[in-house]
Amino acid sequence: MAYDFDLYVIGAGSGGVRAARFAAGFGAKVAVAESRYLGGTCVNVGCVPKKLLVYGAHYAEDFEQASGFGWSLGEASFDWATLIANKDREINRLNGIYRNLLVNSGVTLHEGHARLTGPNEVEINGQRFTAKNILIATGGWPQIPEIPGHEHAIGSNEAFFLKELPKRVLVVGGGYIAVEFAGIFQGLGAQTSLLYRGDLFLRGFDGAVRKHLQEELTKRGLDLQFNADIARIDKQADGSLKATLKDGRVLEADCVFYATGRRPMLDNLGLEHTGVKLDKRGFVEVDELYQTAEPSILAIGDVIGRVQLTPVALAEGMAVARRLFKPEQYRPVDYAMIPTAVFSLPNIGTVGLSEEQARADGHNVQIFESRFRPMKLTLTECQERTLMKLVVDADTDKVLGCHMVGPDAGEIVQGLAIALKAGATKQHFDETIGVHPTAAEEFVTMRTPVAD
Ligand code: FAD
Ligand code: NDP
Repeated sequence: MAYDFDLYVIGAGSGGVRAARFAAGFGAKVAVAESRYLGGTCVNVGCVPKKLLVYGAHYAEDFEQASGFGWSLGEASFDWATLIANKDREINRLNGIYRNLLVNSGVTLHEGHARLTGPNEVEINGQRFTAKNILIATGGWPQIPEIPGHEHAIGSNEAFFLKELPKRVLVVGGGYIAVEFAGIFQGLGAQTSLLYRGDLFLRGFDGAVRKHLQEELTKRGLDLQFNADIARIDKQADGSLKATLKDGRVLEADCVFYATGRRPMLDNLGLEHTGVKLDKRGFVEVDELYQTAEPSILAIGDVIGRVQLTPVALAEGMAVARRLFKPEQYRPVDYAMIPTAVFSLPNIGTVGLSEEQARADGHNVQIFESRFRPMKLTLTECQERTLMKLVVDADTDKVLGCHMVGPDAGEIVQGLAIALKAGATKQHFDETIGVHPTAAEEFVTMRTPVAD
């Protein structure tokens, strides 16, 4: 049967754009549908605008510390509207770049909501198209628990477009987004509390990292409330919000921001017209080749709920394009040693196993740890400390994990990830000459393991 397209991609986000561009580059006839914004979550309401806001928030401490280096500044003031307008201009520029990337690589762009009408058919803007392969790359959407008054709360999508910076913010959640946005709001001047339902935020990260960040955020005056969860939210006559906690306490705020995870975006996607199955958590179920239960339909990125990170969606998109249209270049995505950063203030950078995971996996673990005051702060009043930690297998000398909390941790961990991927041992780290004077050199100068 002749199809309109070899590949029809639903979603022009990180994964979808990568798969579409590469497939077209390999000679396939490709279309991509996008209902909202080119570049998807990462470009529009994720990584990119988030990082711009983090940069914005960082200036607060830069101004504070400048006096130690002889600078005297007038009173600093901050204008949220300027930051948001400049951010929007940059995102518009990126949207244009994504449009050009797609069009110049020969991909047909359909702007509108796409719906599956069969295993090989998609409907968009009242038209139907057939495709030999269909790729679901529809990403995710913030998930806010349906407590009474949840309609008064916002999620990350709205946070990027607030008309003004709220004076008092309650951030709910203990994952990446909660920790990053707590830093953004607080850095920009809002009185901020982070409420997390468990004992300590960032579940799954190394224990020392979680504890160290807790200490550093507390030093900065962020109000961290653990074992705290909101039972209901009420809007008051003056427009402010009253959050009643499960333990009966009442907190007042101008904004309640939920960052409690993301669900797969499957709204009105027409999965019922296909044999695609969902897993227990509601994400699209795929095998190791990203094949769904419907042979002609594949899925990648956040919608499959494996690792919700842009570089992972990119790698999956590339793998699908190669397998379908350039099989001789196909390589499966390696999910081991994925480096990641939390752009909190200070940053977390991490790759490999946490100490807890390494022990649970049965490794005979050796820990190397260093805590120090960064050189840049020695001329300032700031008492922030950096943490660096190596998790080593004592039997094989292999470095299993590198963890850092401190300035530029995300930048530093990228290079370490290459070393770990290549199987570096602690001896390799020891034999590597440091770059002096940097914080990063500490990773190659830790000699004595921490006593058990
Ligand atoms: P998406 O990028 O979400 O793209 C899906 C696209 O599909 C969207 O454009 C959507 O409009 C479109 N779509 C959905 N349904 C349809 C339909 N039926 N028809 C047509 N189009 C449709 N990751 C990092 O690696 N680093 C970070 O710093 C980082 N920061 C983040 C900050 C925030 C606030 C958030 C929310 C996420 C962040 N992420 C970060 C995660 C990252 O954004 C995602 O992992 C990544 O965008 C997933 O890509 P994707 O292609 O799977 O989906
Ligand atoms: P996460 O899954 O990282 O964290 C969700 C948090 O919300 C957890 O602390 C969880 O608690 C808590 N939670 C879940 N449900 C509830 C509930 N009903 N009530 C109260 N608390 C709840 O999700 P995020 O929304 O922070 O981010 C989504 C994903 O996006 C991340 O996992 C990450 O993959 C990606 N991302 C990456 C970034 C980066 O690379 N820098 C930045 C931002 C996002 P518990 O731990 O107890 O389950």
